[in-house]
Amino acid sequence: MSEAFEAVIGLEIHAQLLTATKIFCGCPTAFGAPPNAHACPVCVGLPGALPVLNRKAVDFAVTAAVALGCEVHERSVFARKNYFYPDLPKGYQISQYEQPLATGGGLQLRLRQGSHLRESSGGQAGEAGFGEKFVRLTRIHMEEDAGKSLHEGFADSDRKTYLDYNRSGVPLIEIVTEPDMRSAEEAAVFFETLRQILVWLRVNDGNMDEGSLRCDANVSVRRRGDPKLGTKTEVKNVNSFRYLEKAIEYEIGRHIDVIEHGGRIVQETRLFDAAQGKTYSMRSKEEAHDYRYFPEPDLPPLVISKERRDAIAKALPELPDQRRRRFIDHYGLPAYDAALLTQTRGVADYFEDTAKHSGNPKAASNWVMGEVLRNMKERAIEIEAVPITPAALAGLIAIVEQGTISSTVAKEVFATMYDSGRAAAEIVAAEGLAQISDTSSLEPIVRRVVDTHGDIVAEIRAGKDRKFQFLVGQVMKETKGKGDPKLVTDLMRAAIGS
Ligand SMILES: [Zn+2]
Repeated sequence: MSEAFEAVIGLEIHAQLLTATKIFCGCPTAFGAPPNAHACPVCVGLPGALPVLNRKAVDFAVTAAVALGCEVHERSVFARKNYFYPDLPKGYQISQYEQPLATGGGLQLRLRQGSHLRESSGGQAGEAGFGEKFVRLTRIHMEEDAGKSLHEGFADSDRKTYLDYNRSGVPLIEIVTEPDMRSAEEAAVFFETLRQILVWLRVNDGNMDEGSLRCDANVSVRRRGDPKLGTKTEVKNVNSFRYLEKAIEYEIGRHIDVIEHGGRIVQETRLFDAAQGKTYSMRSKEEAHDYRYFPEPDLPPLVISKERRDAIAKALPELPDQRRRRFIDHYGLPAYDAALLTQTRGVADYFEDTAKHSGNPKAASNWVMGEVLRNMKERAIEIEAVPITPAALAGLIAIVEQGTISSTVAKEVFATMYDSGRAAAEIVAAEGLAQISDTSSLEPIVRRVVDTHGDIVAEIRAGKDRKFQFLVGQVMKETKGKGDPKLVTDLMRAAIGS
């Protein structure tokens, strides 16, 4: 980006709350049902149908607000947001407007060093290789999702509209930030960090493909040093971190280009075309929504008692950032490992259970970051679906620690444990995998390898010691990886006399 300009970015994120039923009725929230399979008079907004607020949805919203450091208001109010737009078959949306559930709060971002706007945007030095930045939240409010209309045909004679109310009434929170971000990267990191926390709190499933988490970005640019904000455009419904970064990057470039060529930015809503890597106009200000809010007559104000809020605050889990720091301090893990192990709460729990059962955090971390994560990735599963329990993995770690099996054999045992559900010790005993660590068994093999590789032995004796490992490798091969590597090395040294 041109040094003369500074970007100003704020985000609005819609997160679906992980309740089984909708926010104002008992219809299921499950994704993928046939159109209107999950709809009732409340979802459709029939006159006389009475919405009843879902208590669980409120608990989830308060959980998110407390975790993000917001002030949760004792009293908040639902309003009917009326607007005429094809994505709103019900005609209005129940949302919180003037009196939202929560205000304030924010999120601490960890940014990789070297991003070009860091210094100019109030970033501070954090851990080695990372800078930190605090992004303030404006508010969090509760609302229902809208249904949708599908339009078909252009001529009046064959024009059809299909209505689907399945998403109408799905519980959401909208999280609005202050315009604190100064680069597309910061915005993407914010979205990523927020997703991690919401999923960690188990209030949202983080599934962006199914629309349970969506991000709108407000972007403007101004000449550096200008206190006044430029005209903003809004990029709607971006559903991946990478697309968000690309869409904002594109918008920043487009704004600067327009301004530098003496043009003016038009306030409008735009969509991102991922295939083209460009944004395009969806609707301009002339067609902008004329929102009309009325107090929702069928819902009393939402009252959150201090006791209820405090109970939720008390039940909050340790958050990813705290846990990452604790893994570094308490288990002595490198920062990289700690960050990887706290990507999800499930993985962090799994690691910590394995560390406790085995008493060997370093080995636990190596196994989880190695074989466990590799299997999850290859099989595209979450940690909860890994069939080896932390206690069983600790059993494997113990056998390796005792020197019963080598680390190479341990990987095979892990694979067998994974497929069979048997314990490590049982597999080692049944398949005769225990390490060979008696001299009488290994010595003849060492002797044989030395005899068949006379030329290499001669080279080693002449000082070419780097060939030594080759001979050790031959012995390991003959023992199918079961030879105790240290003993094999000692015996080989003795046999060669090097
Ligand atoms: Zn319903």
